[in-house]
Amino acid sequence: MIHPARCLVAFLVLALSAPLSAQNPVTIRAGTLIDGVGGVQRNVVVTVDGGRITRVEPGRAGAVTYDLSSLTLLPGLIDTHVHITTHFNKAGRATTEGETETEQMLAAAGNVYVTLMAGFTTIQSIGARQDLELRDAIARGVIPGPRLLTSLGSFNRETSTPAEAQAYVKEVATRDPDLIKIFASKSSREGGGQTIDDATIAAGCQAARAANKRVWVHAHAASAVRAAVNGGCTAITHGTQVSDADLRLIAERGVFFEPNVGLVSQNYIENKPAYYGIGNFDEKGFKFTEDGIAPKTEMFRRALKIPGLKIIMGTDAGAGAHGNNAQEIVYRVQVAGMRPMDAITSTTSVNAESLGLGDKIGRVAAGFEADLVAVAGDPIADITALERVAFVMRGGKVYKNVGAP
Ligand SMILES: [Zn+2]
Repeated sequence: MIHPARCLVAFLVLALSAPLSAQNPVTIRAGTLIDGVGGVQRNVVVTVDGGRITRVEPGRAGAVTYDLSSLTLLPGLIDTHVHITTHFNKAGRATTEGETETEQMLAAAGNVYVTLMAGFTTIQSIGARQDLELRDAIARGVIPGPRLLTSLGSFNRETSTPAEAQAYVKEVATRDPDLIKIFASKSSREGGGQTIDDATIAAGCQAARAANKRVWVHAHAASAVRAAVNGGCTAITHGTQVSDADLRLIAERGVFFEPNVGLVSQNYIENKPAYYGIGNFDEKGFKFTEDGIAPKTEMFRRALKIPGLKIIMGTDAGAGAHGNNAQEIVYRVQVAGMRPMDAITSTTSVNAESLGLGDKIGRVAAGFEADLVAVAGDPIADITALERVAFVMRGGKVYKNVGAP
């Protein structure tokens, strides 16, 4: 028979070593759990083992590794549209001019860190070539950051042929991107008119699909949106000039819709001195930006009424906006009238589905990756709770645990 005291000592040693080792099961008690697919439970214990969620047990008593009973636990948040390497240089300007490659990469490492600390455990960068090394460094655990998916560039021409779009996809596909990005319209700062013809948009989308890649199409003009949907894209980003009929077409084809209403334009305006004079960030461009917020918010309100439309959460975060990603969600709820639970589901399970990761992330359920965040307050009652992130776990590893304020 084993002496009870020895048994207790063995138990204590195990319990004390549990948080330090990823091998041992970790338990988290949540005061409230929002599961990512519309469910809410109170007083739940989530067990994590080997980087995955293994059990979700309501009402379980007993000691736990992390007691978050005063917090709300959610799946790690997902942003489907950022530009993760963008930053302000030493002169406070939104350009890499005068910077070394090392300075640029350090800024990018800072961006992924603040984004992770803000509760975003997966981001998709409509990104630059440098995203490749950044993605790998995060995946190897060299620097802390969200799981990074990237397009490694974009097809962005004022005019081009189907053959050129196909050649672009073929070239970028050799560098292992997670998706393909195609610009089908001008920037909103230049009016957003369609740039490449319908056949070229379709050729790019089909080439991407043939390479087994998802396709994100940047489109403001309604004609460009329709061409991308008919051409077989995965998701439309922006869509600022669409009619209700266009929104219904997007819904019917099962295309994901990623409007950005609450962060990107506001960030440009707040940081006007940092952007002013760079490219199309001129007086006219800023006027388009300022005047564009109300119509795109109105479009978003119409989109909420379209049955079956899969609205996903992307911010288009650039320099100055990294780490503020949740502002988009807050705006969608507080200004544009989205239901808080729908905004959360959009940011978690629906976003995961749009990334082709619907069976891995975006939910708190057994078998899913242990990507978990806890916030102070109840985001259903007050969506700004998503900006008060107290706990971040990605793949079973805790990156932040600051307790309730
Ligand atoms: Zn973008």
